[in-house]
Amino acid sequence: MQQVTVIDWSADFVATLKRLLLEAHGTELRDVLILYPHQRPQRHLQEFLAQDPEVPKPLFLPEGLSINEWIPHLRQEMDPRPLRTVSLLDRAGMLFDIVQDLHQSGEGLLSRLPVEREHFYPWGVRLAELLEEFFRHGRTPANLLHLSGEVQPMAAALLEQLAAIHEQYEKMLEAKGWTTPGRDACFVASHPEELVAIAKEKQIWIAGFYALTGTENAIFETLWKADAARVVFHTDPAIVDEPDRAHWTCKEHLRWLKRWGAKAELTDLAVSPRTAPRPDIQFIEGFDLHSQLRELEKNMAGTDGHDTAVVVPDTSSLMPVLHHLPDKDINISMGYPLSHSNLHRLVDIILRLQETSQGPGRYYWRELINLLRHPYIKMLTPKGTVPLRAILREFEKAIRRGGKYLNPLEWVPQTENWPDDADDAFKTAQLEGLHEVLRACCTAFESVNSLAGLGDALLGVADVLLPEDEGSSQWHKFPIDAECLFRLVKESIPTLTDSQISHDTYSPSVLYSILRQFINRERVPFEAEPLSGLQIMGILESRLLRFSHVHILDATDDKLPGSTAYDPLLPEPLRRELGLPDHRHRSLVSAHNFHRLLAGAQDVCIYYRNGEDGAGALGGKSVRSRFVEELLWEEEKREGHLIEPGTGPVKTVSFPIRGIPLRETEIEKTGTIQNRLLDMLHKRSLSPSLLDSYLRCPVMFFYKYLTPLKPLDEVNEAGDPAELGTIVHDVLHHFFLPYRGELTNLSTLDPADLQDEFTRRLTDSKFFKQMPWDMREGLNLSGRERLRRFLKNQGTTTILKLEEKIDQKTPIGDLNILLQGTLDRVDERAGGITILDYKTGGMPMPKRGIWTDIDFWDDIARGYEQETADDELLVMLAEKLPSLQLPLYAYLYYLENGVVPANAGWVELRTEGMESELFSDADSEEIREDAICEYTPRALRFVLSHMLKTPVFTSTPGHYCDWCPYGFACQKQ
Ligand code: SF4
Repeated sequence: MQQVTVIDWSADFVATLKRLLLEAHGTELRDVLILYPHQRPQRHLQEFLAQDPEVPKPLFLPEGLSINEWIPHLRQEMDPRPLRTVSLLDRAGMLFDIVQDLHQSGEGLLSRLPVEREHFYPWGVRLAELLEEFFRHGRTPANLLHLSGEVQPMAAALLEQLAAIHEQYEKMLEAKGWTTPGRDACFVASHPEELVAIAKEKQIWIAGFYALTGTENAIFETLWKADAARVVFHTDPAIVDEPDRAHWTCKEHLRWLKRWGAKAELTDLAVSPRTAPRPDIQFIEGFDLHSQLRELEKNMAGTDGHDTAVVVPDTSSLMPVLHHLPDKDINISMGYPLSHSNLHRLVDIILRLQETSQGPGRYYWRELINLLRHPYIKMLTPKGTVPLRAILREFEKAIRRGGKYLNPLEWVPQTENWPDDADDAFKTAQLEGLHEVLRACCTAFESVNSLAGLGDALLGVADVLLPEDEGSSQWHKFPIDAECLFRLVKESIPTLTDSQISHDTYSPSVLYSILRQFINRERVPFEAEPLSGLQIMGILESRLLRFSHVHILDATDDKLPGSTAYDPLLPEPLRRELGLPDHRHRSLVSAHNFHRLLAGAQDVCIYYRNGEDGAGALGGKSVRSRFVEELLWEEEKREGHLIEPGTGPVKTVSFPIRGIPLRETEIEKTGTIQNRLLDMLHKRSLSPSLLDSYLRCPVMFFYKYLTPLKPLDEVNEAGDPAELGTIVHDVLHHFFLPYRGELTNLSTLDPADLQDEFTRRLTDSKFFKQMPWDMREGLNLSGRERLRRFLKNQGTTTILKLEEKIDQKTPIGDLNILLQGTLDRVDERAGGITILDYKTGGMPMPKRGIWTDIDFWDDIARGYEQETADDELLVMLAEKLPSLQLPLYAYLYYLENGVVPANAGWVELRTEGMESELFSDADSEEIREDAICEYTPRALRFVLSHMLKTPVFTSTPGHYCDWCPYGFACQKQ
């Protein structure tokens, strides 16, 4: 039986590999080719060979390649045609042609969907990646049928014809003389004889692989069975003699042995295997990244960083990590996400300048300020002068004093804006420097309508950032930023300008969406050189390397193994159906990398955060990684008891934090304010939202209704919830109008008209046009779906009134108050009249049992009668009845029609369109009548009398502070 060599995973893999190579080939290594999962081990091997005094020098080094580097060589040798490896953009463009042909063939779901170049790109990219995965696994995809309703319509249509798309894609690549890395791998794997013939020229070692793709497995198996390659694992040595006792993460190696019918043999050349049974592990529980970093800093103090790795599973944390590390010889090996760089911020500002502009030369002031404040722009130094910083500050002041939109090129600095000693030459050079920035970052993007144009405009920005006069350049001070800029200029921009679809015309929103997706995928590779010193790396970069001292940061479950991003084309559950590895496989690979790294270490510190994460819209609680849980569990079993945080190996990090005293804001009600209030109560009608505003926070009410302060006019990137609410109300109003007065089963109505009208109104709205393309798509699709669900849940009813305005006067003390409300809908149902209000936001439901709490309502009546304002009672009312709106609508209806409504409810349009009613079935007719005709006017009188009697407006902070526009003037903030 043929063998696979196993190196104990507690030993140094690369040092042991060196011994194996010398034993097998002596120092004649020139024909040796070592294949690795990644490039880094080869550098270490070269270092080991160089430092080995027993290896004579000079020496021909063995060749070392990653598998991804070797396959294109093989492909070229087997098929000498000069094939072009095409970019993702080209592949997406080609897939558009294929999908459009299928659309025009009139078959399947695709024929019913619009296939427009403009909107296909995001799907094209995902589809190209999926097909590439099939190539890499050497699989031919099958169609996935009947997925309508399970995935998005376009995804269902593409998956339904996946086999045909794949077939056409392959044909088209062949016809054009194009290839992809996956297709190369597939080609090589399917030509075993040529593969063996080529491989026989070398002594091949397949070193340190774990989980293989389908094509890797086929290639390696062919070579190994033909005795053309030797395979070396770095794994738990138990797989040799006691596979049942082997660490669970080595499962993939056992499967591999079984698949090939191979026998594992443990080498006795292992270099420095660990003698202790396990590493010394410390768990450090912080509450955020910075608390972990402070502990790291402490643990690193006094060490020289030799033979030490700081592993950062989330590469976006690189910058804070670098700031906390002691000033040592540091080497970074990882792919840093371009999307976390300052350069990305600048590109994003440039795109947003166009997205928020009102046409050429009409730029939104806030984005212009963002541009002027960008550090790259501030450090620009026109030849022979000083950095632009000072003139940019003056320009910013002028912008803040001006209008909402402006043409930045029209700004002319005043005499006082210049330094006293500035001469004309200085002024001209500085102004020209500023104009050069504005032309490159604003004007050059105004007429861009193709990817090539976008690439050229970005190149213009790079030209401005890189001065001709290298002496004045500051980039050498910022190596990471410089590397990002280099990557943008040398990799990203050429891909944009040199693809087959580069000159096709697209709308700006699609172009920006493509660019953003593109940048989000880019990683700027950092390769540490030399190999000495403290190594900072990602978990992938640590593969096959060994360090005695290991620090793993931010070991939370969302980073280790990491969560899987949602794929709208092929959601996770469908991957298995197509025979592709799913998250369980990825988790196993991640676990193996983690445990292998630990196996070779003497001491390990694992840092993680435990508590609120708060990152992103859905930010939730961070939990330590499942791998950490497993290690702790092992430790607990050994110790025979549970380990509490702060005891044994689990250290908790805490900082003494003094609470910030919460002071209420109090605004004294002067005579002027009281007069203004009385004036308002006399002259204007009072809406439920005015009363609710006072109920929530009297200070907010004061700013909103008694001062001329208006909320700051800002572009809301996530859309405009108020405007969206208006659209939904209008659309529902018009849709239901024809059914007014008739008993109708609304659930049976076709939602198409409702949905189409919603889409039409939405796409016409200004806020929608300012949203990014993908958010617009999401909003439109989710809105349509919610309207469909809403209609389905409506049931049978008679709509009596729609958008009914009611004005009624009611006496409060000496005042005759005009109340006003607009009832979205009034239905006649089996139980009586029901008043409905559509809600696209949250629903402030009254506390259970409020309507039967007679004592409370008696207190409210007393509160109205008494001389002074009762603040506690106001807070209590706000807690029990957070909104007066629905009770007030019911009361107004009663005043206008003399009929007491049976119920009133909010219809939530955020999810299913279900109703939340003011009264439950348990509330009798008497209770409802008391609530509407007695308690509601009591609450109204109490709130208004409190407003009039209170000597101060006192803030009552709550969750609504988060979106209160007056927080800036309030001590709560
Ligand atoms: S921030 Fe909160 S407490 Fe302050 S005014 Fe606004 S709602 Fe009131």
